[in-house]
Amino acid sequence: MNIRLDGKKAVVTGSTRGIGFAIAKGLALAGAEVVLNGRSEAAVAEAKAELATLAPGATVTAVAADLSSVEGVAAFAARVPSADILVNNLGIFDPKPFLDIPDGDWERFFQTNVMSGVRMSRLYLPGMLAANWGRVVFIASGSALNIPVEMIHYGMTKTAQLAISRGLAEMTAGTGVTVNAVLPGPTRSEGVADFFGKMAAEQGVPTEQMERQFIAQHRPTSLLRRLAEVDEVANMVVYACSPQASATNGAALRVDGGVLRSIA
Ligand code: NAD
Repeated sequence: MNIRLDGKKAVVTGSTRGIGFAIAKGLALAGAEVVLNGRSEAAVAEAKAELATLAPGATVTAVAADLSSVEGVAAFAARVPSADILVNNLGIFDPKPFLDIPDGDWERFFQTNVMSGVRMSRLYLPGMLAANWGRVVFIASGSALNIPVEMIHYGMTKTAQLAISRGLAEMTAGTGVTVNAVLPGPTRSEGVADFFGKMAAEQGVPTEQMERQFIAQHRPTSLLRRLAEVDEVANMVVYACSPQASATNGAALRVDGGVLRSIA
């Protein structure tokens, strides 16, 4: 299978690093015009320069906007009024015991992880339906199905994304537009590497040991028995965005390393 996305414009939210950057790279290598996004001008400019070396010749636009807010999405929309592919990747996570999570954190997680995808889908889905072709992918998580007790608020947002992506897929019936969710398991993004780095420093152990310990203690059902690499997640997303994935719609696609034990 040779995936080509020439002539398609792809927006990837939260793509200056981590899984989002890997997805942007994968889409760019398949020929798509890619719009990178992060919060600061410096971060998006740096990501754009890096992508230019990794995907030479690709058309890349960098748009700084905080997509957790109404104003941020409006500013983004003014710069990028249409897209053929939307990857709602932006997401924050922060382990915190339930009793210590204030209302403000619940609201911030909801606005960032859920409402960003709602507003971005509202922006681009009508154009995709009018063109009778489009791809929307929500980067949810295995935590959408196995709610992590160490960050219940995060799990709530990821389950909400599954409800939204399936609901939006219902709107596409009979068209060339698809809406799917991808469920990564623990993945070595910069965000996760920082997290394990800090924990390792606190406990005075090497980062690799910390990662192995985390999988063994907190994700014991993992068949992969290691963190996934960002490109392993991005490959599934690029496929879901491809013309070849036309019969996959309304699905929750797992790249969870087998953590989730259910068969279907
Ligand atoms: P990361 O922290 O490494 O990267 C997040 C990106 O989002 C960065 O580019 C950051 O600049 C950007 N960002 C943050 N807040 C923003 C905002 N308000 N507006 C615009 N951009 C913003 O994250 P990651 O680990 O790559 O995670 C990406 C997605 O994958 C998230 O939705 C996360 O929930 C999901 N996920 C990650 C894992 C994992 O183990 N890494 C597992 C399952 C799901």
